[in-house]
Amino acid sequence: MYCPKCLNETLFIKPKGVIDIYINGKKRDNGRFLYNIEESEKEQLIADFKLKCEEFFKWYSQFNNQDPIEYVELLTVDVKCENSCKFSPLERFSAVDIIVKRSLIEEILKELGEKYKMRIALKV
Ligand SMILES: [Zn+2]
Repeated sequence: MYCPKCLNETLFIKPKGVIDIYINGKKRDNGRFLYNIEESEKEQLIADFKLKCEEFFKWYSQFNNQDPIEYVELLTVDVKCENSCKFSPLERFSAVDIIVKRSLIEEILKELGEKYKMRIALKV
């Protein structure tokens, strides 16, 4: 990944960490999950991600004025630059396609959208 500090392709997401989930720019207090990219942990990672999305849908489905689900962001501070760049906790990086494939995110949202009768209109 591209490092915004040293401007090289030397940034990596750590094999273990925390991902915050933002849906339409909103994040719930507990809208985060631990990840571990080891193959043996993959099912757990996906189950945890799905659970967190479902919690959001349950919560958001109670709103009177619901916008369709347009933006889903998976952000993490658990990155490391080979050039040892330092980042502030406010600098977060997208884990989409690195930790969770975009196609899987779309699949999960579609499923939840049907279950909670919410419209999904993802914009990239
Ligand atoms: Zn760097």
